[in-house]
Amino acid sequence: MSTLLEGPTSTDSAYRLELRDWLVANLSDRYRGLLFRGEPDDDWLTRMREWNVLLAEAGYAAPSWPVEHGGRAIGILEQAAHAEEMAAAEAPGPINALGIPNIAPAIMTYGTPEQQERFLRPLLRGEEIWCQGFSEPDAGSDLASLQCRAERDGDNYVVTGQKVWTTLGQVADYCELLVRTDSSGKRPSDGITCLLVDVGLPGIEIRPLRTITGSAEFNEMFFNEVRVPVEARLGEEHAGWAVAMSTLSNERGGVATLHLRLRARIRGLIDTARELGLTDDPVVRDRLADLWAEGERLRYLADRSLARAAAGLPPGPESSVIKIAWSQLGARIPEVAVDVLGMAGLEGPWGLDLLHGRSLPIAGGTTEVNRNIVGERVLGLPREPRLS
Ligand SMILES: Cc1cc2nc3c(=O)[nH]c(=O)nc-3n(C[C@H](O)[C@H](O)[C@H](O)COP(=O)(O)OP(=O)(O)OC[C@H]3O[C@@H](n4cnc5c(N)ncnc54)[C@H](O)[C@@H]3O)c2cc1C
Repeated sequence: MSTLLEGPTSTDSAYRLELRDWLVANLSDRYRGLLFRGEPDDDWLTRMREWNVLLAEAGYAAPSWPVEHGGRAIGILEQAAHAEEMAAAEAPGPINALGIPNIAPAIMTYGTPEQQERFLRPLLRGEEIWCQGFSEPDAGSDLASLQCRAERDGDNYVVTGQKVWTTLGQVADYCELLVRTDSSGKRPSDGITCLLVDVGLPGIEIRPLRTITGSAEFNEMFFNEVRVPVEARLGEEHAGWAVAMSTLSNERGGVATLHLRLRARIRGLIDTARELGLTDDPVVRDRLADLWAEGERLRYLADRSLARAAAGLPPGPESSVIKIAWSQLGARIPEVAVDVLGMAGLEGPWGLDLLHGRSLPIAGGTTEVNRNIVGERVLGLPREPRLS
């Protein structure tokens, strides 16, 4: 247990050392620090595509995937070691930030051999970019109420409706799209179907949404009688809810390593404050120490999650606790940075982080919804009223 408290991945496994060497040899300044911040412009895309191919050819684009699909089938602790080394080296991940952890595993579980053969390799190599078309203007937290509909017409589904907040939609080649194919079910989650849609099909319009950061990070997608071939269906007709849940549940390893980039930013802020001679001020020291302690707390939470996974236990509610703590800390770091650094803080990346931080408690499950999960499943509080 003491090893776990020090960080279950702190050992120098062969995998970790091999990856470290590979990064030293391959991660040039052309790719270092190329994180997805805002709009995917041409330069970002070009460099990310190059880097993604290097990762894929070395087996590092999705090392947890099975070997037959281009992964290395590494276990959960090696996945954490992978994330630690990548974060420490400021190495970008693969371009398909949603495709690799979420969409591809759903294709592996529910896809036909033809779909797996067709889609997984180009997704892994970043040659085809995927987006996730789940949320709608009136269906976010309550995803099961989605209304984008698809009617069967011979060998096609005819899709009409709207999606929103679609990350990478403006550069995507394919979309994992949830549609309603039947409204007569008892529960809203009945009658949903999942389609793997070619974003170039006639009738699809993508409108980038500009946020307060000034960039268009995500998009609205409009479907106007789009004819999608039946063979693009992932899983059975009307059984898309299970596919959606499998897509969303694949974030566990990611949740457990969320603390890495935040702790690196906290360390960066402390270094900057020290260089500027600000750390002599006891109030500044107090605030920075508080941030640092929060970062360590998040790490221990993450280690508990990894320890459960390593012991073969099913995911516990700690994922919700981590998501809440991560988003709160992610929003607080730039607030403290701007307070401590003053106007200089607002001009640099901290200013952008301050604005971007608003989205963290929303993306991937809102803080309020995660609090409901913790309240009901951890604290045993009464369930909130449900319509279904
Ligand atoms: C950066 C970012 C990237 C995203 N990328 C994608 C993407 O690629 N694909 C995609 O499909 N979606 C994406 N989303 C959308 C995201 O999944 C939704 O924003 C999220 O599910 C919340 O849905 P909503 O925005 O409709 O808010 P709503 O569900 O309408 O919620 C509005 C408010 O009500 C609160 N609320 C809702 N239900 C409850 C409840 N039962 N109890 C208490 N409070 C409640 C919420 O917490 C929130 O504060 C992204 C969002 C962000 C911020």
